[in-house]
Amino acid sequence: MNPSETPQKPMISIVAPVYNEGEGIHKFYERVRDTMDRIGEPWELVMVNDGSRDNSLEQMRLIHERDPRVRLLDFARNFGHQIAVTAGMDYASGDAVVIIDSDLQDPPETIADLVQKWREGYEVVYAVRRKRPGETWFKLMTAKLFYRTIYRITEIDIPLDTGDFRLMDRRVVNAINNMREHNRFIRGMTSWVGFRQAGVLYDRHAREWGKTNYPLRKMIKLAWDAVTGFSFFPLRIAMYASFWLFILSVLGIPIVSLLRLATGIQFFEGQATSIVVILLLSSFQFFFFFVMGQYLGRIYDEVRGRPLYIVADTFGIQRQNGERHRAPQPPPVDMQGEDGSKG
Ligand code: UDP
Ligand code: MG
Repeated sequence: MNPSETPQKPMISIVAPVYNEGEGIHKFYERVRDTMDRIGEPWELVMVNDGSRDNSLEQMRLIHERDPRVRLLDFARNFGHQIAVTAGMDYASGDAVVIIDSDLQDPPETIADLVQKWREGYEVVYAVRRKRPGETWFKLMTAKLFYRTIYRITEIDIPLDTGDFRLMDRRVVNAINNMREHNRFIRGMTSWVGFRQAGVLYDRHAREWGKTNYPLRKMIKLAWDAVTGFSFFPLRIAMYASFWLFILSVLGIPIVSLLRLATGIQFFEGQATSIVVILLLSSFQFFFFFVMGQYLGRIYDEVRGRPLYIVADTFGIQRQNGERHRAPQPPPVDMQGEDGSKG
């Protein structure tokens, strides 16, 4: 962005996924509103109700009725955090889009710092966690291990200790909105698209109400999406394993045979040895079936070509026919050619 050109009134969109946050959603809205009003640009808050089972939607509708800058998407069921964020980005219309959790673990006041960096010309400004109180030792350990592993094995640099709390320029949002992969890891996707990126430090707070909706199962799914979405490393493990097993056999077979013939020492005796070896090797093989299955399943997800989410209702946003497939481009694109007919 050329700093000398003054853009006409930038609009900032805040995107927040909501799953069972009814208890504190008013507090969240108030803090976002106060921060945004202090920044002084026009803004909108796009909240995505990800199939909450509590009173989140009613609470959000109350907020929307009082403040039309608050816009709502209501999913037909729970589609998961990353998909909820995706929908919010599809429907947000600002020149910058901020993704923030709605449980106040990401302090809305930090948005001012993100916007500041954006004004300096950075297209992606991610918030880097300085401390994370109120999280279990296990969560901190696994999170740390996760980021270090991703950093080592993927081809892209995902900044350490960042979550999805970040600001993205419209150009970045359009680029990501055009990536319709089903198993999404948005932090990785924002790094992948490139552009000028900068970090801002913040203190992550403890949850003030409710409980985490990221049990170990969902964390493992997210980790697999990160790894399989950005790396072929797990597939290459099979190659390394076959190489080292081959070396072992080439060296081992003559040694064992010669010792047997020359000295009569029998190294591997009886069925027990064979069974142990077979079990060990077949467990390796099953592991590689699993790894291939992970990639195969993801290919199947893409081939089916289902929409990423189903919107049941919208409030304050023009309802699209289902999912908004492409980011709105300056000259309106002709959607006719996208009906999947064979070309
Ligand atoms: N969330 C969501 N759908 C889900 C799980 C979570 O939209 O299936 C939202 C949740 O309301 C919150 C954010 O995603 O705003 C982060 O979730 P959570 O706080 O449970 O994760 P954690 O902060 O513990 O990693
Ligand atoms: Mg949280």
